[in-house]
Amino acid sequence: MSEDGLPPLREVVAAHGLAPKKSLGQNFLFDLNLTRKIARAAGPLAGAHVLEIGPGPGGLTRALLTEGAASVTAVERDERCLAALAEIAARYPDRLHVAPGDALTLDHRALMAGMAPARIVANLPYNVGTALLTGWLESDPWPPWFDRLVLMFQREVAERIVATPQERADYGRLAVLAGWRTQARILFDVPPAAFTPPPKVTSSVVELIPRAHPLPCEGAALSAVTRAAFGQRRKMLRQSLKGLAWKGAPVAPETLLARADIDGTRRAEEIDVAGFVALANALASS
Ligand code: SAM
Repeated sequence: MSEDGLPPLREVVAAHGLAPKKSLGQNFLFDLNLTRKIARAAGPLAGAHVLEIGPGPGGLTRALLTEGAASVTAVERDERCLAALAEIAARYPDRLHVAPGDALTLDHRALMAGMAPARIVANLPYNVGTALLTGWLESDPWPPWFDRLVLMFQREVAERIVATPQERADYGRLAVLAGWRTQARILFDVPPAAFTPPPKVTSSVVELIPRAHPLPCEGAALSAVTRAAFGQRRKMLRQSLKGLAWKGAPVAPETLLARADIDGTRRAEEIDVAGFVALANALASS
């Protein structure tokens, strides 16, 4: 038995026949010290209601509950995991709600309705991690329904989230969106050997704290300018922004750049979040 009175995770996986599936991004954490470290990084959890995506056999779920989360709502797509999760729910009456289904299509805000403060904590499946993060960052209204995101990604994705124009190779749309609405930082790395099966690359836990007052800007306009600018990231903005349209009407790059007070010979990777917000506001007012 483990400290929480439940069987060790390796036994849980064997008992329920949870051979990891690559197609579901299943790299499980069995070390309860590590899952507790992640849960503590998301703390203090007392009184917090956690949304966890992809609990799998429940290593992180158990740590979140042990560390005092008021409740955990766990969205899991793999039906094979549901019996193992039911055992955890029985150990923590009324504190674990399992939501079977695809996290990409479920309405997370509705799942967490009436639960505040809500927090998102997950060891994300690598194949849908970026799509999930983008969805959370595009939430409206802002500040959003969650007070913090503590998420595990592949190190390379984590670096793209926290990148600045000084780190050009990693700086792109994801960094602009994350930097606009949150303060993001990498908390710590987790080596491949910590997972079963071990992935090829190192992972990192990232913390994103929503900004109460992001620079005013229309998300759709920011999305349009960053898509165009980073779509041709090696080109000068006066070239890469060609073809941009707003509400069906084409907008000349020169007009946008003049309004945003940005030199058209610069490239996307040199423009900070404030610069992109200025371009987005210029687009939205055209
Ligand atoms: N939290 C567990 C841990 O840390 O050991 C498992 C993490 S594993 C990297 C990712 C989990 O996400 C798996 O349990 C997988 O079945 C689940 N998953 C994959 N795609 C999903 C989706 N679209 N919606 C919900 N869960 C998903």
